[in-house]
Amino acid sequence: MSLEDKISKQVRSIPRSGIRDFFELVLGRNDVISLGVGEPDFSTPWHIREAAIYSLERGETSYTSNLGLEKLRRSIAGYVASHFSVNYDPGSEILVTVGVSEALDLACRALLNPGDELIYHEPCYVSYDPSVALAYGVPVPVPSSAAEGFVVSAEEIEKKITSRTRVLMLNFPTNPTGSVMDVPELEKIAELCISNDILVITDEIYSELVYEEDYRHVSIASLPGMRERTILLHGFSKAFAMTGFRLGYSCAPPEITEAMMKIHQYSMLCAPITSQVAALEALENGAAAVESMRRDYRRRRDYIVGEFNDMGLPCHLPGGAFYVFPDIRPSGLTSREFATGLLDSQNVAAVPGDAFGVSGEGFLRCCYATDMERIKRALEGFRQFLASLKG
Ligand code: PLP
Repeated sequence: MSLEDKISKQVRSIPRSGIRDFFELVLGRNDVISLGVGEPDFSTPWHIREAAIYSLERGETSYTSNLGLEKLRRSIAGYVASHFSVNYDPGSEILVTVGVSEALDLACRALLNPGDELIYHEPCYVSYDPSVALAYGVPVPVPSSAAEGFVVSAEEIEKKITSRTRVLMLNFPTNPTGSVMDVPELEKIAELCISNDILVITDEIYSELVYEEDYRHVSIASLPGMRERTILLHGFSKAFAMTGFRLGYSCAPPEITEAMMKIHQYSMLCAPITSQVAALEALENGAAAVESMRRDYRRRRDYIVGEFNDMGLPCHLPGGAFYVFPDIRPSGLTSREFATGLLDSQNVAAVPGDAFGVSGEGFLRCCYATDMERIKRALEGFRQFLASLKG
């Protein structure tokens, strides 16, 4: 009997994450300097960890409401109103989830019928394509290019719209390119969605991490006519350095929140109470820590971008997130050849760009959420690897 045949066709059809595959190679090697994993090097700020510890000490170990603690949902409503200028009712429009990962899965399952198309811009976060496929939808990528700063235009999106298009997924700042979106283009995309009756899932997980003084992050949910057709996803993993707490949330009109809640209720029941209490502390008192981490990331970004350009690997200046996406084509190698060669010869790990979709080929994703000392050593490894190619 082959157990492989017993696995559902849908699950068999999706590939393993390209990041995971590459990191299988990294595991078991000593002293690797990794620019690979998309996770802050900072520990969660102490006052947030302390709130979780006190909560456990008080014996708060129960389930919560399926939607999440009411106090937390009220606090999320306040935070979203001040950060994104959109108001949501904490009673019926906010759902606390196990990370943005769960919220993304719920949103796809709540909106897509088998065969419905969901358009997203690529290169993109590795979960988008499989999350759509697991919800029996059809993922429709719109490639973006280095020449356009990896920003997708309304015109390119429009070319992909068909009678089956149901949802557009956006992620700005973007993983893996760090690109951000200009408001005038976002307005055109909003108009396109309204005129074609398309719903939007917007993954705003990096929205606090933007770096240019004159740039203000704007969510598509805040544009006229968009609140009623948008699911805004956000969470605590990145800006608050809380990846291990596994906490996120969605904000959407009541009908959509109710649909997502039904799936969440049967699959997850609720997000962990300890993490919810920690998240409340993050929202109430975490702003200074977020700002301090953001400033640090910006210093690292400026340094790493300058270094890549200096060594002949063109690298656009990303406006947000904590990734750079240098062009490694001048080396004459593919993304995989470059990443494998760099790992083998210099013990430096970065993710091949094609892990984020075919339009990522020719690039590497380097996460600079690691300390300056390690970034410097990693970049020295890049220089030596490039020199060895020439020699
Ligand atoms: N969305 C994007 C764009 C991400 O980069 C990530 C994690 O890397 C996630 C969602 C998942 O976040 P969470 O830890 O909240 O599940």
